[in-house]
Amino acid sequence: MKRMASSNSMANAGRFVLIEIFNALNSLELKSLEEPLYLFGQFFQKPLECLTLAYYLPQNAGAIARKYIQDPQLLSFIDAECFIVSTVNALQTPMINASMVLCDRHFGGINYPVGGVGGIAKSLAKGLIDQGSQILYKANVTSIITEQGKAVGVRLSDGREFFAKTIISNATRWDTFGKLIKEESLPKEEENFQKVYVKAPSFLSIHMGVKAEVLPLDTDCHHFVLEDNWTKLEEPYGSIFLSIPTILDSSLAPEGRHILHIFTTSSMDDWKGLSRIEYEAKKQVVADEIISRLEKNLFPGLKSSIEFIEVGTPKTHRRYLARDEGTYGPMPRSIPKGLLGMPFNTTSIDGLYCVGDSCFPGQGVIAVAFSGVMCAHRVAADIGLEKKSPVLDAMLLRLLGWFRTLA
Ligand SMILES: Cc1cc2nc3c(=O)[nH]c(=O)nc-3n(C[C@H](O)[C@H](O)[C@H](O)COP(=O)(O)OP(=O)(O)OC[C@H]3O[C@@H](n4cnc5c(N)ncnc54)[C@H](O)[C@@H]3O)c2cc1C
Repeated sequence: MKRMASSNSMANAGRFVLIEIFNALNSLELKSLEEPLYLFGQFFQKPLECLTLAYYLPQNAGAIARKYIQDPQLLSFIDAECFIVSTVNALQTPMINASMVLCDRHFGGINYPVGGVGGIAKSLAKGLIDQGSQILYKANVTSIITEQGKAVGVRLSDGREFFAKTIISNATRWDTFGKLIKEESLPKEEENFQKVYVKAPSFLSIHMGVKAEVLPLDTDCHHFVLEDNWTKLEEPYGSIFLSIPTILDSSLAPEGRHILHIFTTSSMDDWKGLSRIEYEAKKQVVADEIISRLEKNLFPGLKSSIEFIEVGTPKTHRRYLARDEGTYGPMPRSIPKGLLGMPFNTTSIDGLYCVGDSCFPGQGVIAVAFSGVMCAHRVAADIGLEKKSPVLDAMLLRLLGWFRTLA
C-alpha cells in the first residue's frame, strides 16, 4: 500500500511537470521567439516561466517520465499518448510539445465546433476576407520565384505569377526546399534540418457512414485501438485511431446514421508501383482488415452496417495536401534534443518564411496555430508594423541558428 502511494506520488510529480510547462506557456504572450525585443520583454516580466521553458526545451517526455515512473505499463501508456501526437514514442517526443497537447485536452474543458472542424477553417477564412484579404482556392504553387537570392513571388501551375515583399510557405520544408525553391543546392540550415528530421509516415484513412444501431448507446467519440501488446504501437497499421464526430454533433449525418473516421499509419512505399486496378484492390483489402479488427474489438456487426465508405492512402494525402510522400510531418531520426533542432519561421532565403508543422513547435493543430502566430509577428516586425532592432535581430538569429546545430 505504501509502495503504491509512493509510486502514485511520483506519477503525480510527473504530471506536475507537464502542467508547470503548460502554465508557463500559457502565462506568456505568445509571439515570435525570433523577435528579440518581445523575447527580452517577456523575460523581464516572467523570468521564472521563461527559464522553465528554456530548461525543458532540449528535453523529451520519455526521459522525464522515467525519472518519476517505473511501471512499464504506465510508461507504455505514456508512449501511446505521445505517439498519438507525434507518431513517435515518448523518448522521441519533445517535452514542450507533449505538455502543450496533453494539457490542452483538459484545460478549460473540451470544446467541439458544431458543424464539424471545417467550421474553424471557414471562420478563419471569413476573418481574413473581412479584413480585406483575398484567398485564391485551387491555386497550386509550383515554384517560389527568387531574384538575386531573395524570394519575390510565386508561380502557379496555370502559369500565373504573383509578386510580394514577403513569401510565406505553408508547405512542408521538404516541399518548400525540395520542390518550390529551384536552388541548385540545399541551404545549410535545411541540410541540418534534414540531418535531424526525417519524414514521418502517412496514414490510411477510412471514412464511413454506418447505421446508428451498430454503436452501443454509451459509445465515446474518440478511440485508440492497440491490440495484443504495446510493441506494435509504432508499426505500420499497428494501432487504429477512430473518431465518431456524430456522437457529439448529430447534425453531421442523416438521422439514424453515424460517421466514422478511422485511420492508421501507412507509408508511401506500400502503395508505390501498383496499377490502378491493383491500387483499388489493395485499398479494399487493407480497409477490410482494419474494419474487421474494429468489428472484433469494438463494434460487432460493423461491416454489415456500412452504408458508405471511402478509403484514402498516403497517395491521397500527397495529392490533396501536396505533402511529400503524404508525410504527417517531421519525425526525429534518433533521440532528439527536445525542440532544439526545430527551425522557426525565418529561412536562409531573404523574404521567405516557413510556417506549419515542419516549424517550431511541430505537429498538431495547436502547434501549427502557434507557428502561425509566431510567423505573423516576425513578418510584422520585418515589414515595419511592429518594433524591431536590426542589430539584436541579427544577433538572436545567429544564436538560434547555432543552437540548432547542437541538436
Ligand atoms: C489523419 C490525421 C489526423 C489528425 N488528427 C489530429 C488531431 O486530432 N489533433 C491535432 O491537433 N492534430 C491532428 N492532426 C495533425 C494536424 O492535422 C496537422 O499537424 C496540421 O494540420 C498541419 O498543419 P499545416 O498547416 O502545417 O499543414 P496542412 O494542414 O497540410 O496545410 C498545408 C496547406 O497548404 C496547402 N499547400 C501545400 N502545398 C501547396 C502548394 N504548392 N500550393 C498551394 N497550396 C499548397 C495544402 O493544400 C494545405 O491546405 C492529424 C493529422 C492527420 C493526417
